[in-house]
Amino acid sequence: MAPTRSRNAVPEQLGFDGMPERLFVCTPSKLGAYADCPRRYRYSYVDRPTPPKGPPWAHNSLGASVHTALKNWFALPPDRRVPGALPTLLKSTWVREGYRDVDQERASYRQALQWLETYVATLDPQEEPLGVERVVATKTAVLAFNGRADRIDSRMGPSGTEAVIVDYKTGRSGLDADDARGSQALALYAYAAQRVFRRPCHRVELHHLPSGTVAAHEHTEESLARQLRRAEDTARDIMTAERAVADGADPDTEFPTAPGALCSWCDFRRVCPAGQESVAREPWTAVEHLGT
Ligand code: SF4
Repeated sequence: MAPTRSRNAVPEQLGFDGMPERLFVCTPSKLGAYADCPRRYRYSYVDRPTPPKGPPWAHNSLGASVHTALKNWFALPPDRRVPGALPTLLKSTWVREGYRDVDQERASYRQALQWLETYVATLDPQEEPLGVERVVATKTAVLAFNGRADRIDSRMGPSGTEAVIVDYKTGRSGLDADDARGSQALALYAYAAQRVFRRPCHRVELHHLPSGTVAAHEHTEESLARQLRRAEDTARDIMTAERAVADGADPDTEFPTAPGALCSWCDFRRVCPAGQESVAREPWTAVEHLGT
């Protein structure tokens, strides 16, 4: 239900001249890019033409291939959701970019298939999720959020059927409850899913396919609101920086670099002055451990 407003309160969305202020349209990756590094945000979303990116990463190809295979798994009728369907699903949308050579690509395919076989063995083929790669969207006084959740399950909770946010992970390192608790993206999906599906959504889960583990967190209304406030703060910071640049401020000052471990994996490492100081990685470095 919408919060009640005092009759005399100034609606937050109205500017000084009574015209509605523009909402900041965002996705979790847009907010995450700025939180990680304002300069990376600028290269991705402000500078036009977009500065040249480095070559595609094999680990991104691997992640995308596994995500699409799982999406297409749920598109099958329940009686065809059998492990034998997986090789075709994975092959038909396999992304080939970034691997060192065909041998490494094959080893990665075999590993991905094994992850998928282990993972689908934990699923009930008869169970239909509420949504698969489902876009959920919501608005606040500051931002218009939309994001594509990997999966939204319908499960029985203490007060009836609830929506549960599921996010697949294929990275090398395992994840724990702190990762699920701290993920702003998952919290925003949960906040939006509550409104889209008109049912509670507090539980968020990271399903790490390489280790077969699930890291979960139960949000409260307060913790969801806290994550939303943080997202709004980020949105305000971005809008302030963008306005300053439009008014003639130095873009390098408004969107400073935030050098760190991420630089080696940043698409803009080659064009960024701070990135050039970081260790260069091959596009396939993160999949080298997968049996080659
Ligand atoms: S290389 Fe590092 S500092 Fe430069 S944009 Fe990327 S993450 Fe930011």
